[in-house]
Amino acid sequence: MVLPGHLAGGYLGAVALLAITHAGVASGLSHEQINVLLVLGTLAGELPDLDLLRLHYEETHGGRKVESHRNYFTHAPSFWLLVSLVVVGFGYIFSSAFTELIGGLILTGSWSHLIFDSIEDGVMWLWPFNTKRFDIVNKTYQGVDGGPHSMRYYWNFIIREYSKLWTCYAEIFVMVVAIWALTR
Ligand SMILES: [Zn+2]
Repeated sequence: MVLPGHLAGGYLGAVALLAITHAGVASGLSHEQINVLLVLGTLAGELPDLDLLRLHYEETHGGRKVESHRNYFTHAPSFWLLVSLVVVGFGYIFSSAFTELIGGLILTGSWSHLIFDSIEDGVMWLWPFNTKRFDIVNKTYQGVDGGPHSMRYYWNFIIREYSKLWTCYAEIFVMVVAIWALTR
């Protein structure tokens, strides 16, 4: 999945968390705080892909081809569960419901990302005990022509490969639901 779908997933995760925890004006949050939480939750949907920066660094400075950034621990569910619990813990210690909610959003955003990544790309759900990546539909990419990171390459990839993946349909679906939730 690419950026729009992950952001849409993060937004829906944030809406769900605020609804489940009854977080709102009635619980003492201001409208500004609620909006900040929705924005943070949306951005949290892309959190695991921050490791693309590490991949880029290793490939340009380390001079080696990395098989997938989804093999980094930053694409492991347990890592984001731990980060979330630490932030929730800080919120609890300092009696800040706002901070606790941010901790919760780290979990809903990152895990929505990892669930979508599990459709075809695979995620290390058992890390640190096992580094195997689990997917729902096993898919090997055929590879398309065009130089790496060129516009031609991305265009060929989207038209010839990505548009035929279940991930692409999931991405369209989650974006439609997110737009519906945003505008209702
Ligand atoms: Zn990812």
